[in-house]
Amino acid sequence: MTNRTISHIIEPQLVIEGAGVLLRRSVAPRASNEYDPFLLFDHFAFNNPLEGPIRGFPTHPHRGIETVTYMLEGSVNHRDSLGNAGKIGSGDVQWMTSGRGILHEEMPRRGENGNIYGFQLWVNLPAAQKMGQPRYQEVSAGEIPVVEKDGATVRLVAGEYNGTHGPVTEIAASPLYMDVKLAPAAKFIYPIPSGHTVLAYVFEGAGEFSGDPSTGSGQGLVESVSMAVFKDDGDQIEVKSDAAGRGVQFMLIAGAPFKEVIVPYGPFVMNTVEEIQQTIQELRNGTFIKQ
Ligand code: MN
Repeated sequence: MTNRTISHIIEPQLVIEGAGVLLRRSVAPRASNEYDPFLLFDHFAFNNPLEGPIRGFPTHPHRGIETVTYMLEGSVNHRDSLGNAGKIGSGDVQWMTSGRGILHEEMPRRGENGNIYGFQLWVNLPAAQKMGQPRYQEVSAGEIPVVEKDGATVRLVAGEYNGTHGPVTEIAASPLYMDVKLAPAAKFIYPIPSGHTVLAYVFEGAGEFSGDPSTGSGQGLVESVSMAVFKDDGDQIEVKSDAAGRGVQFMLIAGAPFKEVIVPYGPFVMNTVEEIQQTIQELRNGTFIKQ
């Protein structure tokens, strides 16, 4: 087995979205689609009470994508045009497949200690599924399997680890999405199919990510908070807690690229300019939501 090495590190940019919500954004939808099948990765961390009330994301549409919300602290209240409503609490996941369209609102709330901490990942849909039926997979914290092995504590949302399968299934990109926490001096190895895109979002501590120890090539200390992007030059990733004795915690994200031309426009990601124009037209004339 050979380790995939790091291609580059993304430093998250502070951006303001929705009704004035400050986020750390590592990946944004772009026509170049360099992280195919992943389109966006946002990190919510509004932990300063001086920021005041959180305004959230009032009603907005989506078409042609999946949005995945994973909360570590605090919660997000949501409701949509199809009559679905609920609360994504601490440790919960919502995997929302927009298909041909939903209109929803997402309202983050601070937890008991005043913190909000969570992530939203956007995953593309292939052309053949962009106009499919909207669907939710909601998983409560207690239903997410936790696998402990050799100093690693893995919360598995989608994909397989050590014989355990995550609860989110039947996603077009065959994604892996898991929260990995390594104790000091622990090592974690995970096989990744050739051709799959791999990202690691390091949000606590620091770790040595992959590389070939015989050459030192591509080895790198990745400090929180940043995203490591891997090359397609091996068949596994290897992570060690850093030598200073800190642990490390990261979201490991991997999936099969669709290799289709995309046209992103705000909350829509389609394959042609005409499909985007049609989407905007439908929003204007009231035919966007299809029962
Ligand atoms: Mn949304």
